[in-house]
Amino acid sequence: MASAIVVGAGVFGCSIADRLAGDGWTVTLVDQFDPDDERASSGGESRLLRCSHGGAEWYTDSAWRARELWRELDRSLLVDCGVAWFARRQDGWEAASERVLRARGIPVERLDIDGLGIFPSFSGDDLAFVLLEPAAGVLRARAATRALAGRALERGARFVRARARPDAERVALEDGRRLEADRIVWACGAWLGRLFPGLVELRATRQEVLLFRSPRQGWRTPPVPAWADYEGAFYGLGDLDGDGVKVASDAEGPEIDPDGELPARSTDLEQRTRDYMARRFPALAGTPLAHAATCRYELTPDAEFVIAEHPEAHRVWLVGGGSGHGFKHGPALAEHVVALLRGECKAEPRFGLRPRISGNAMRAAGRIDWPRATPPSAQLG
Ligand SMILES: Cc1cc2nc3c(=O)[nH]c(=O)nc-3n(C[C@H](O)[C@H](O)[C@H](O)COP(=O)(O)OP(=O)(O)OC[C@H]3O[C@@H](n4cnc5c(N)ncnc54)[C@H](O)[C@@H]3O)c2cc1C
Repeated sequence: MASAIVVGAGVFGCSIADRLAGDGWTVTLVDQFDPDDERASSGGESRLLRCSHGGAEWYTDSAWRARELWRELDRSLLVDCGVAWFARRQDGWEAASERVLRARGIPVERLDIDGLGIFPSFSGDDLAFVLLEPAAGVLRARAATRALAGRALERGARFVRARARPDAERVALEDGRRLEADRIVWACGAWLGRLFPGLVELRATRQEVLLFRSPRQGWRTPPVPAWADYEGAFYGLGDLDGDGVKVASDAEGPEIDPDGELPARSTDLEQRTRDYMARRFPALAGTPLAHAATCRYELTPDAEFVIAEHPEAHRVWLVGGGSGHGFKHGPALAEHVVALLRGECKAEPRFGLRPRISGNAMRAAGRIDWPRATPPSAQLG
């Protein structure tokens, strides 16, 4: 029976461990924290699942497949509320997304701004149209990561809570133990770049999530859809499970140390968020803040994932770079990774350890300002 060690119990690592264990591998899942820890990028209550990715078909297909796999895992994890995109141009990213969705047969509708009834309060006079993905929705993120980890353990995986570092083709644990397996997957989120310096170009940034007290009527999700304003760099959803109305910025926050404590939130972003709410959802202007949290993005320069074999250690694979949009893909990404580990498909060059040109097309919104492409120099961490 083949064996694997997966380091990192965020959504990527848990999905991979679960899929490998389901396929009969002997799996050891290692993490410095528990699988639903707030310090991991996968921490927190909700994540959007959308299939729109501009013209990037791979991600559209992956999100659609992941939707099926999430529903198979536990039907209650995905909230079927739809995702609405606020398109500022007729021929922009949303129109490109719509073409791909229609070609794939994934449900999509163009809605008129006039009389738009899906939000209790809405102002869209700056928009060309609203694109609705009715089959998209919101994942209950904490429960989803726990469910994956739980099923991996039920399927026979072993969880080791420890900090690890690469030691050629082995995993060195902080207590001095060395673990070996046929395949080792490092799925270490914001820490991946530091574990493999010179190979993986990643930046950890502080991101903030704001939840506002839900007005007495009309803002529950569902039926209120999740939404994203690609060119405005904001996204959110209504009140899900009584947590409050979520409005978050996808613009990059300041760079942070993955090993440091998560820094406190900024009052400046709250004001910018309130300005956006007053503009887009006038009835929410002045709504009191219910809860605020900070968390980490792990950004590659081009917002594309990293899924690559180590150039000098052939049983070692590096997986990460979720770049603020990875969560939804977890189980589908795991299917792809396991096929790679089995040698059943070829690695996608777009996910390779290659110089990357800055770009943000894959994210829901925001801007990545990395002017240079740094050539990676192979180095065994
Ligand atoms: C605020 C916010 C909103 C987001 N919104 C969305 C969204 O709406 N939709 C969406 O699809 N995605 C979204 N994302 C992105 C998504 O959550 C991430 O891309 C995804 O969770 C990354 O998962 P991961 O498993 O790669 O990393 P992580 O969840 O960070 O997991 C990595 C794990 O590796 C462990 N680890 C690291 N180094 C070591 C070590 N040396 N030894 C042992 N363990 C180690 C860590 O402890 C951690 O548990 C959002 C992210 C944030 C922060």
